[in-house]
Amino acid sequence: MFIESFKVESPNVKYTEGEIHSVYNYETTELVHENRNGTYQWVVKPKTVQYEFKTDTHVPKLGVMLVGWGGNNGCTLTGGVIANREGISWATKDKVQQANYFGSLTQASTIRVGSFNGEEIYAPFKSILPMVNPDEIVFGGWDISDMNLADAMARARVFDIDLQKQLRPYMESMVPLPGIYEPDFIAANQGSRANNVIKGSKKEQVDQIIKDIREFKEKNKVDRVVVLWTANTERYSNVIVGLNDTMENLFASLEKNEAEISPSTLYAIACVLENIPFINGSPQNTFVPGLIDLAIRRNCLIGGDDFKSGQSKMRSVLVDFLVGAGIRPTSIVSYNHLGNNDGMNLSAPQTFRSKEISKSNVVDDMVSSNAILYEPGEHPDHVVVIKYVPYVGDSKRAMDEYTPEIFMGGKNTIVLHNTCEDSLLAAPIILDLVLLAELSTRIQLKADGEGKFHSFHPVATILSYLTKAPLVPPGTPVVNALSKQRAMLENILRACIGLSPENNMILEYK
Ligand code: NAD
Repeated sequence: MFIESFKVESPNVKYTEGEIHSVYNYETTELVHENRNGTYQWVVKPKTVQYEFKTDTHVPKLGVMLVGWGGNNGCTLTGGVIANREGISWATKDKVQQANYFGSLTQASTIRVGSFNGEEIYAPFKSILPMVNPDEIVFGGWDISDMNLADAMARARVFDIDLQKQLRPYMESMVPLPGIYEPDFIAANQGSRANNVIKGSKKEQVDQIIKDIREFKEKNKVDRVVVLWTANTERYSNVIVGLNDTMENLFASLEKNEAEISPSTLYAIACVLENIPFINGSPQNTFVPGLIDLAIRRNCLIGGDDFKSGQSKMRSVLVDFLVGAGIRPTSIVSYNHLGNNDGMNLSAPQTFRSKEISKSNVVDDMVSSNAILYEPGEHPDHVVVIKYVPYVGDSKRAMDEYTPEIFMGGKNTIVLHNTCEDSLLAAPIILDLVLLAELSTRIQLKADGEGKFHSFHPVATILSYLTKAPLVPPGTPVVNALSKQRAMLENILRACIGLSPENNMILEYK
């Protein structure tokens, strides 16, 4: 059974005019390695820590500025939201299709809230806490190409033609602001697109981005802005002591107009200085140590890296299942071909390398969780190939071969073939990223013994379900397994309304 909304009634939860306050007992463990009667033993001690959560329930009018707004993801997301907002339907060769938000965790998934008369009761994920309605987001952003969003949508060849015709009037007047272009950071084949660029030194470019954000906010009367990078994958920037390793050095390098500060890092600096959450949807190391340092010191949310859309999402499910089942993946090989501009940009070795790194680490936590299957330091062979094939456009093909070892040395080869428009996978993920980033800035917490409420750590691990290479604060474990990432997010939001984590025990029926 499905319910649209619910309210929690508990002595631990108070709903007031502008706030939900919850007291939450976090059940965890403490491990000690102790000498007991001459032998060392691991001892696990269950431990309860009391937390308080405070969620501001005023939902702001949200502006979202995309870097790379005119790209396939940018125009697909913008068109998709307009279609939902306007209730647009369109004829395909199969049927009349209604706009929807399928693929969005917040908009199209549910959580279990309990059982009633022996039936499981589910509610929308978005009903846990008050969230921005995506239909009400105001979009804007930058692109190094000045093409308007209607033409960009036609160029992307993602939406059906009947839908494009209906969206065109809404999107023709949407023109991206000039972007920061540095040819050295993306493939040379992107040069012909760059007709809309900000001139001046790196410092002046940062100042221009700040000015753009302020003007956008003012013009559209939005309360909050989130910025997200969905522009081309850049090459990695070199991390160099004295250049970008600390906040001070990054600022000094900005003043000196150092060539090695990437455009994505420049946008991110501007956002952090303006206390605007910044999310990186591509694999490059935008968040160099100096930038992470800046974000931590300014307590400004940063999140990334690289949308976890198709192949990587499958991999973080499949390998979790295999390793969790006591089966040993020994080789994982991924072949991709795609024909969109992303594919063309990734055909250069330096930008491909960024993607290769991001894709390769997706199984690390699962492998290291099982020393019965893997020796310390041992890892499955993991190879990633990406080829540019213009004909297939945005409809990416991903072929994966997994070869796990099973019982008594047997081999079990599993092959997956995935075909679909890449931007239709990424657009709902972008939506979730901005909605959850905004929501998480309204949550405050404190553990027992902490004097004051504080926000989550500015490096937003809460977004990791949506990213391929989750950015985590220094010294924090990286979790890639999709089910763990989803449970983490859902359970933290449940804690904010005083609900215990979903433990799937269903003891009532045992
Ligand atoms: P795209 O090439 O269609 O769009 C990128 C846009 O960014 C282009 O319009 C380009 O002109 C613009 N651009 C490039 N550099 C810029 C800059 N410095 N400032 C402003 N604009 C700039 O690519 P896409 O298919 O929309 O993908 C966008 C990014 O998302 C890529 O890096 C891709 O690797 C990443 N990504 C996509 C998926 C997916 O499923 N679609 C998954 C993971 C990551």
